[in-house]
Amino acid sequence: MTVTSTAGTARLPLLLLGQGADPGSERGVECPGDLPPASDPGLVDRARRARDSLGDRAFVLGHHYQRDEVIQFADVTGDSFKLAREAAARPDAEYIVFCGVHFMAESADILTSDDQQVILPDLAAGCSMADMARLVQVEEAWERLADAGVVDVTVPITYMNSSADIKAFCGRNGGAVCTSSNAKQAIGWALERGEKVLFLPDQHLGRNTAVLQTGLELDDCVVIDPHRPDFGVTDQQVRDATMLLWKGHCSVHGRFTADSVAAVRDRVPGVNVIAHPECQHEVVLGADYVGSTEYIIKTIATAEPGTAWAVGTELNLVKRLAQDHPDKTVVFLDTTVCFCATMNRIDLPHLVWAMENLVGGRVVNRIEVDPDTKHWAKVALDRMLALPGIEAAKD
Ligand code: SF4
Repeated sequence: MTVTSTAGTARLPLLLLGQGADPGSERGVECPGDLPPASDPGLVDRARRARDSLGDRAFVLGHHYQRDEVIQFADVTGDSFKLAREAAARPDAEYIVFCGVHFMAESADILTSDDQQVILPDLAAGCSMADMARLVQVEEAWERLADAGVVDVTVPITYMNSSADIKAFCGRNGGAVCTSSNAKQAIGWALERGEKVLFLPDQHLGRNTAVLQTGLELDDCVVIDPHRPDFGVTDQQVRDATMLLWKGHCSVHGRFTADSVAAVRDRVPGVNVIAHPECQHEVVLGADYVGSTEYIIKTIATAEPGTAWAVGTELNLVKRLAQDHPDKTVVFLDTTVCFCATMNRIDLPHLVWAMENLVGGRVVNRIEVDPDTKHWAKVALDRMLALPGIEAAKD
């Protein structure tokens, strides 16, 4: 099965959590052939055998937020952009098995050669944030900015966590991609070319970066809400603002609150709070350290033994950090469980199913971005890579 991402259409609309049944969102469950049951005690052995059979023909990527049962088979782990670049650095690997979510597999397809095939073991592994900005909505918002007379002075910047067609939109319209590590440079670059930034799709990363790193004020930001008439803004608000923040958020990082920060400081005396910039502004303001997933990993790895850390990011990663650093106290920032539900769709049965099919010569769940979208998305990615002094890491 090949899934093609095409500009102008959202071929893989993913169900936003909690919005009822959508048979289309369950497409990944119906794997052609036999999906092994999760209770199969031979799953680990089957995965090992399939992995060994594939050898260097396959390269398995594991995102930091992935389950342990899957991450043990990853040839490399990392954030989304690092993984896409790792894939591009393995031109001899025929198959890139991406244990992450859909937009990440698209990015890998954009950055790898046409001979390489990118596989997403479960097509239902999407990203709720990426799904919050669809091309048709963004094109309508662009027209709204034209009506307000500001489109010629607006530069679109999209976070890595967006679909390929949104990245291509930015490429076509003079904009760029950014990661959470280089959002500051991307916003600075955009404001040298225009007077305003349309920041997609994560309002929190846009707001946190603008206010905490570029010297802008909260009053310089307005929220562009695709679900409200006129996108929830007046012409005057759009003309007055510098940051036009798309109303999207991460359903994982968006759950932390200022109360989570206060409560953990009570529970764990002397704790250092470290949070991802996808968290709400109040959370980031209350944290001691703020940065990307890679930054969080490095900060805790190099912290003094005996120190305590409350981490505001996805729970699989926080649990692994706690296991990897028994000389430090590492706790989750909140008291409620908070996995990335869509990322966790990639489980061992799906990985075994995908790899065994590849061993049998059947390419399943291929993610393929159409050539025009790929071209313009690559333009936006290349603009990011050309930013001065960037460290391109994310998610
Ligand atoms: S953690 Fe958030 S941004 Fe990352 S894949 Fe999951 S929903 Fe998307």
